[in-house]
Amino acid sequence: MKIGIPKETAAGETRVAFIPALAGALLRDQHEILVESGAGLRAGVSDAQYAAAGAKIVGAAPELYAAADLVFKVQPPSVAEAGLLREGAVYIGFLAPFSNAPVLQVFVRRRVTGYAMEFIPRITRAQSMDALSSQATVAGYQAVLIAAGRLGKMFPLLMTAAGTVTPATVLVLGAGVAGLQAIATAKRLGARVEAFDPRPAVREQVKSLGALFVEMELPKDAETAGGYAKELSPEFIQKEMEAIGARLPKVDVVISTAQVFGRPAPRLVTREMVGLLRPGAVLVDLAAEQGGNCELTRAGETVVHGGVTIIGPVGLPASVPADASALYARNCFNLFRHLYPRPDAQPDPADEIVRGACLTRGGEVVNDAVRKLLGRA
Ligand code: NAD
Repeated sequence: MKIGIPKETAAGETRVAFIPALAGALLRDQHEILVESGAGLRAGVSDAQYAAAGAKIVGAAPELYAAADLVFKVQPPSVAEAGLLREGAVYIGFLAPFSNAPVLQVFVRRRVTGYAMEFIPRITRAQSMDALSSQATVAGYQAVLIAAGRLGKMFPLLMTAAGTVTPATVLVLGAGVAGLQAIATAKRLGARVEAFDPRPAVREQVKSLGALFVEMELPKDAETAGGYAKELSPEFIQKEMEAIGARLPKVDVVISTAQVFGRPAPRLVTREMVGLLRPGAVLVDLAAEQGGNCELTRAGETVVHGGVTIIGPVGLPASVPADASALYARNCFNLFRHLYPRPDAQPDPADEIVRGACLTRGGEVVNDAVRKLLGRA
């Protein structure tokens, strides 16, 4: 197979979907690797490094797309890029299908088999392909560094001849993949860390990282069978907000990551509650793109309210392009190896991972939710 890696064209995207370290295994299976010139530069990978690993460097996107049987990508393609894919080609990358109906329509017309990385089922067997988790790990880490850079105070306890510096206190709301990494990162920097998440299994995970779990009566049915949080009752959210409000006067940093799959992010910190934070405190809202956990969050912006800084970062993994790319590339590679365990193998349409991630095949949409969307488009 000819495997193509185009340069990402979306504004602000610095990642690349393939790294040279993965080339050897593909070449051993008689695949060819084509990399668009400059594709890895922003992630710290030169054309020479790809070439040394055995890839062929291709001058421009149209040439690459025209040759590739399969394309690895980070961001969903533009309609123009989708139109460059060969008839019957395979696409592996993020697809954001609910905001990209025109791209899916091109995939259908051109009989492209499209695998959406965000649709990989979150099952143990698919963990090595789980790009949402790998990129959430990067975001959780980076959120803490952003807060540390903005806070006018150091994180660790320091005892110096000039006096004692008390440690910063960090409150993490939502301790899924990003939240747990935020806790670990804040702990490594020496902060006191406390966290809350309504899923009962999380209490032990928080404690195992050396953080304090903010205790409150947990709802009985907080979790779906797939391990995600359910949308909680307004009564519970009210109690949760009271518990959070009691902590806010004592914390320097809030990292909020609370999300409910397919729903707007729960609103956990109101404008009035921001007033409970000390001036100089920093809130980094990782749910900004889903509407925000804080009422004052603006996606992609920094708001200062009463001396408190509220940051709503978007696209955080792209700000750590080397490691975010390496992790993402492995996710794509592992999906590829799962689909094509031998050079002559074909993906099994009945396999749970294939069924979850494959959105288009053979000129049809094969995912029910996406088919409904295109029906309306
Ligand atoms: P997510 O990004 O959807 O949500 C982030 C966190 O917000 C979750 O931990 C959720 O419980 C929490 N949350 C929701 N409502 C909240 C509220 N009102 N207050 C505070 N927190 C709230 O979740 P995620 O991090 O992508 O994954 C969550 C869980 O999914 C994991 O911990 C795990 O159980 C499961 N998972 C499984 C796999 C796998 O097996 N392959 C991979 C990833 C995740």
